[in-house]
Amino acid sequence: MQFKFQLGTKAYFGIGCIKNNKKEIAATGTRCLIVTGRSSGKASGALDDVINVLNELSISYSVYDRVENNPSPENVEDGGRAAREFNADFIIGIGGGSPLDASKAVAVLAVNDIAPLELYKNSFPNPPLPIIAIPTTSGTGSEVTPYSILTRADLETKMSFGNEQTFPKIAFLDARYTESMSHDTTVDTAVDALSHAVEGYLTKRSTPLSDAIAIEAISIFGQCIDNLLNNNFDMSMREKLLYSSMLAGIVISQTGTSIVHGMGYALTYFRDVPHGRANGLLMAEYLKFNYDNLPEKIDNILRALNVKSIEEFGSIMDKLIRNDVTFSEDELEKFSRNTENHKSIGYNLKPVKYDDILQIYRNSLSK
Ligand code: NAP
Ligand code: ZN
Repeated sequence: MQFKFQLGTKAYFGIGCIKNNKKEIAATGTRCLIVTGRSSGKASGALDDVINVLNELSISYSVYDRVENNPSPENVEDGGRAAREFNADFIIGIGGGSPLDASKAVAVLAVNDIAPLELYKNSFPNPPLPIIAIPTTSGTGSEVTPYSILTRADLETKMSFGNEQTFPKIAFLDARYTESMSHDTTVDTAVDALSHAVEGYLTKRSTPLSDAIAIEAISIFGQCIDNLLNNNFDMSMREKLLYSSMLAGIVISQTGTSIVHGMGYALTYFRDVPHGRANGLLMAEYLKFNYDNLPEKIDNILRALNVKSIEEFGSIMDKLIRNDVTFSEDELEKFSRNTENHKSIGYNLKPVKYDDILQIYRNSLSK
């Protein structure tokens, strides 16, 4: 047994965790740039809670609320400029994966005079500003991962950067902030978390410790399936989804993701399919593709979910996620060419060729 397991985030979980642990904010810095999306910070109530605490602590702050969904290098460059102009010494990211990922890029660009694409060198002359991450979705786990995923128009896909310095220093996870999510965003992001745990469990980079965490995340998702199908989003279920998403984030912080994410990026880039939904559309066929190679592990996943077969899992996904986009064969071929060389493809244990990718797309999307 040989593996490395390193986390970089101190996580506080529970209702009121920001207010109850405000000393952590006081110890982080004196000038804060809050990085958030157009509506999620306000709608969730997290922005008000953060501002109240910053005022109580007499910490100066400025709000950058122009993070786009699936942020681009230009978008984070703009945020980096805002951090410099304000002379921020720490960043608080509030939102779903888009603002949290953006806050990592902003934390680097605030103190490094580099073009945004140089983020992908993953080596920065100056250490990034400290980041506090507050999720308002239960999906990406970005609050406990070092990754920042940006949309690369030059490559027509999405690509991550990140190193040990880009882990948020602190994460505050309060499930009340996820209550304002729409039905679709709740379901799509829950499915994203599931796909992190599943891909992390099956990738060639998995470890015994990440596997134990992955199975726990998958089993908690399994406990939520009936409620997700019946639109029963009470607070105990919101807490479970947030916890499962955090666990799944810890998994991919060690293992990365794999072909579901690599293939899903094309659906988001070319057709604007939300990130989690894109993964959900592909997951059953991904399990079928890998079954001959990893039967025990895939059986463990099904058992943890309390479903009998990949077919039953696929029909649950069909009920959970809405696919209102149709795809032509030409498009699927284009997506397959686009995805073939994505680095996540190489992390699948069983080798994946162009024809395999095209077949998974066809089976998943041409129903
Ligand atoms: P998102 O793109 O951050 O947000 C989706 C939508 O939901 C936005 O319109 C957002 O509003 C809204 N929203 C978020 N929280 C809300 C709340 N509590 N109440 C009301 N509306 C809310 O979605 P996401 O799925 O969480 O993140 C996806 C991004 O994360 C993608 O770019 C993906 O590639 C990345 N990702 C990162 C990792 C990682 O490890 N770092 C892992 C997986 C995925 P606003 O427009 O106001 O923000
Ligand atoms: Zn994801």
